[in-house]
Amino acid sequence: MLTKLEAWPTLKEKKPMIIAGPCSAETEEQVIQTAHGLKDKGVDIFRAGIWKPRTRPGSFEGIGSVGLPWLKRVKQETGLPIAIEVANVKHVYEALRAGIDILWIGARTTVNPFAIQEIADALQGVDIPVLIKNPINPDVALWLGAIERIEKSGISRIGAIHRGVSQAGKSVYRNNPEWQMVIDLKKYVPDILLINDPSHISGNRELVAKISQQALELKFDGLMIETHIDPDNAWSDAAQQVTPDQLGMILNRLIVKSEQPEGVELKNIEELRKSIGYIDDQLIDLLGYRMKIVEDIAQFKQRNNMTILQENRWNELVSSHIENGMNKGLSSDFITKVFNSVHQESIERQNSLINK
Ligand code: PEP
Ligand code: MN
Repeated sequence: MLTKLEAWPTLKEKKPMIIAGPCSAETEEQVIQTAHGLKDKGVDIFRAGIWKPRTRPGSFEGIGSVGLPWLKRVKQETGLPIAIEVANVKHVYEALRAGIDILWIGARTTVNPFAIQEIADALQGVDIPVLIKNPINPDVALWLGAIERIEKSGISRIGAIHRGVSQAGKSVYRNNPEWQMVIDLKKYVPDILLINDPSHISGNRELVAKISQQALELKFDGLMIETHIDPDNAWSDAAQQVTPDQLGMILNRLIVKSEQPEGVELKNIEELRKSIGYIDDQLIDLLGYRMKIVEDIAQFKQRNNMTILQENRWNELVSSHIENGMNKGLSSDFITKVFNSVHQESIERQNSLINK
């Protein structure tokens, strides 16, 4: 798949690739002022929402097609290529007619294969880069499916944007980052251009720098950061947007890393990796041994008509493991996840033995 950074001619060698601009185009003045503020900040692509997918009606739903000529002006005055979101066929045609350079597909569209297929059909025979945001739910197959549909329409430059996923409970994030989902996506499309959207993940400008750095640690190729000339008075997503100057500071402080930097002596890390490998072997041995004992327990339960699930006993075990783990600097969340997975496997093992 031709989705590597090299396939994006204007961006060759440039890492990370930076996409910046307002959540929404609001007025011509706001768009132009923001774009001029971004000119000397190392930005590669200007973004702006023309049609806004809002969760509930009544909020600002985008300025619509009247904003397209403003973006043309941005390109003329700054030379920056322009990216906008498209969610249906009408958006695609209007964007192409207005000479937009890059399209992106939003999280609420990626969830819907019908909508994606219509967009893909409208793009048949068009040579334009398309960036595809992950769906709002943590479903890597839907994300991959959207990428495949767009690729089948003949689009060769495709990128994936991670913008986090919605969650039921409270979180410091507006949309929790699901780094594992990105790692899983890369198993299917290893060369895909990967962009992180710290603005929609955080929902809060204070967290944008931190998430951007995390994304670079995880080898993202670029960042999409919402930037507004007057963020507090933005018509959408006010809390998460930064000014062009703030963006400049965030970008200056980013530390770009690589997996195998040239000239670095790897001997020390190799020793440490050997130790980790040795510990992993021990973990696997112990897990195997633990499961063998679980089989004896299953037989005991069967002989004595005991249920497999013994909730009180399990809750006591987990609480004591959490306390133990916390004394060793492990978070209660991590211990819970590890032992829930051990417990699940143990229940499945007992079930399959007893019901053999
Ligand atoms: C956006 O980028 O402005 C946007 C609406 O994002 P998402 O689709 O990630 O919610
Ligand atoms: Mn937004």
